Amino acid sequence: MSIMRSNERPTKQAPEANFTGQVLQDPVIVGTPPSRMRATNVSFMPGARTAWHSHPVGQTLYCVTGIGRIQLEGKQVQELHPGDTAVIPPNTRHWHGAAPDRLFIHLAMSEVTNDGAGTEWFEEVSDDDYTAQTAPIV
Ligand code: MN
Repeated sequence: MSIMRSNERPTKQAPEANFTGQVLQDPVIVGTPPSRMRATNVSFMPGARTAWHSHPVGQTLYCVTGIGRIQLEGKQVQELHPGDTAVIPPNTRHWHGAAPDRLFIHLAMSEVTNDGAGTEWFEEVSDDDYTAQTAPIV
């Protein structure tokens, strides 16, 4: 067993190339083979979001704090609240981030492929896409 202590793992700024606004990343786990697990706690300041991207084995997001937004390409933007879990299918373009006026923190969980391939990144999310009307929560 190993215990990775929080004081040995400083919070990182998410890379500007793949995010809009201020986004902070706290690593949880990068599994060593045969594990393919990846988990990161991600904090989005109000208005911040990922670029469009996809995950080869999909992704699960568990919403911890605040109010977030997520959109699969071609679908309506959905609002996310603490306790919600979003399951994103493999190889599906999407983005996620904070609401315009709220902090949002989620635990992002995914697996790489057998040959180690992870997230594929595309263009940034336009303000028009980001501010589109969110779907009613049913
Ligand atoms: Mn994602």
